[in-house]
Amino acid sequence: MAKLSHKPLVAHPTQSPNKLYGTVMAAHGRHYLIEANEAAPAEAALIIPPQRPPLLNCVTRGKRSDVAVGDVVEYQLTSKNQGVIDAITERKTLLYRSDQYRSKLLAANLTQLFIVVATEPAFSDDLICRALIAAEAGGITPHLIFNKIDVIAPLAKARQRLELYQGLGYPVHAVSAKAEPQHTLDTLLPLLQDQSTILIGQSGMGKSSLINLLIPDADIAVREISAALDTGKHTTTFVRSYHLNPTSIIIDSPGFQEFGLHHLSEGMLERALPEFRPHLGNCKFYNCHHHTEPGCAILSAMQQGSISKMRHGMYEQLVHEAAQTLGYK
Ligand code: GDP
Ligand code: ZN
Repeated sequence: MAKLSHKPLVAHPTQSPNKLYGTVMAAHGRHYLIEANEAAPAEAALIIPPQRPPLLNCVTRGKRSDVAVGDVVEYQLTSKNQGVIDAITERKTLLYRSDQYRSKLLAANLTQLFIVVATEPAFSDDLICRALIAAEAGGITPHLIFNKIDVIAPLAKARQRLELYQGLGYPVHAVSAKAEPQHTLDTLLPLLQDQSTILIGQSGMGKSSLINLLIPDADIAVREISAALDTGKHTTTFVRSYHLNPTSIIIDSPGFQEFGLHHLSEGMLERALPEFRPHLGNCKFYNCHHHTEPGCAILSAMQQGSISKMRHGMYEQLVHEAAQTLGYK
């Protein structure tokens, strides 16, 4: 869990001074909204007010569609506020979403993943584990945001379920977007500072409530982005980013279903579970699958209780899913 602290708007070190660079703020199909990489004034707090750097409507050349929100791209202007993307600069991180057994790009250059869970409705361990594994494999720092702690009846049980993740070293932040908005802001704003953070969560956990609390003009920004990208009136499911301040970005991906983990090999998966790491290399067989092999250090840690059965099951499930696409094992 390397803590990255790059600032999303700082120019890429390999950028040449004569070329135009920008950051992809929203994407819909092969249409992208690019923010020109000029120094943003300190008072700028939102995505589209006039004091922000210009937003350009860009397309890619040909059928190219491997540009993701968060990418820093090199572009050429074709008119005052339109351009064509020529190249993507080197990515620091990359997250994938799953699209029917294929991994597609979700967002680039993120530094943090906030997994929003709540007292109710009950959250899914499957989704949390997949999100944590995506973050670990992508070099992004995950945080669990535990919302609706004002709902008392299911609180103790939910807390207890989250202890597993806390025990693995993942920070859990208890908040209440509705009942304790100020406390929620005080908890989250310092974590978001100078980071590029994506929020994900099952529906009903309060992700929209948190985004609206953090970015009071989010709805206006979305309408403007939607108009600029010509997404059509009822399309609200495109990936978009909001400026919390010039160096802090929040990414929302409504309609997001599942992380793409099919590209992860067995070796990458076993290293994406931190509780596996101390045992790797201690199995009797060097190419152990940690499935039913004799002398498996992971299985013995599970029998002794230091690896949970649920997490091991998740590992096996992901190896199985990856094998369906990669054709190994
Ligand atoms: P999303 O589907 O994750 O975007 O969730 P929403 O933000 O739409 O919230 C789902 C429901 O939970 C709405 O009825 C919210 O008013 C409610 N909600 C959100 N945050 C809180 C909270 O902190 N406490 C309580 N009691 N309800 C909340
Ligand atoms: Zn093993």
